[in-house]
Amino acid sequence: MIDYHVHPDFSQDAEGSIEAYCERASELGLEEICFTTHYEPDPARRDCEEVHVNGCAQPVDSDWPDAYFAALQAATAKFPSVAVLAGVEVGYEPGLEGIVSDFLRRYPFDFVLGAIHCLDHIAITAGQELDRFKVEYMDQGPEFVAERYLHHLRAAAGCQLFDCLAHLDIYRKYVESLYDQRFGATIDSLLPSVLDFVAQSGTGIEVNSSALRRGNAEPYPALRILKLARDAGVQVFTVGSDAHRPADLGKDLETAVQALEDLGVRPARLRRRKLMPAARIPR
Ligand SMILES: [Zn+2]
Ligand SMILES: [Zn+2]
Repeated sequence: MIDYHVHPDFSQDAEGSIEAYCERASELGLEEICFTTHYEPDPARRDCEEVHVNGCAQPVDSDWPDAYFAALQAATAKFPSVAVLAGVEVGYEPGLEGIVSDFLRRYPFDFVLGAIHCLDHIAITAGQELDRFKVEYMDQGPEFVAERYLHHLRAAAGCQLFDCLAHLDIYRKYVESLYDQRFGATIDSLLPSVLDFVAQSGTGIEVNSSALRRGNAEPYPALRILKLARDAGVQVFTVGSDAHRPADLGKDLETAVQALEDLGVRPARLRRRKLMPAARIPR
């Protein structure tokens, strides 16, 4: 089993050192673990975002990746049975392409997730910002918000900075339930063309099992979206637990892998942002 979405304590909302996760990975017999700490570079959210190094908060644009890569290298030496990969989960909004591209050029990442965590600088994935979201967006209506989310998703694929889009239908977490069925109807009508665009961009999609830990029957994205994506021609799919503590490492990944196998797809593995062979199951 492999886990391609893991937050060590470099992420401000996560606990557990890189070493603690690797210990857990050894216990579980995981073959590969790709750390994907948060990188949230939006200058408009400078007051909300930080990175932690040895428990100390540092600005997102500081040299924290030096400590991150050093810790990954130390773990690689200490846990030879686990392949330890260097990844990052980039919080993307249109307009951040230059900052993100400069950042990614500076460091030898194996894997880069692009995530829509915010709409117009307000988090849609954090419960503590939900009230702010409601103030800004409830009057806008379900169609507007659904379209805005898909606009961001399309831009994330179009910028071609990311290997995979993280938790593609994360609006299921908080946003969708704020609205009536017009939200889902708008998503359903627009998503096929967005997925066509994602496929053409060469961007992959991750299957994120954290939805299952939160009591959902299906991962992010839902199975019908995964099938649409496969049919649209998306070539790369990864699986990740989105663990924010070592106890959640690898949780429910069998379900995510099974969802892909049902579509004739194997979870992808990457090194230095290049796909390893055998991503597809021969039929
Ligand atoms: Zn995320
Ligand atoms: Zn994450």
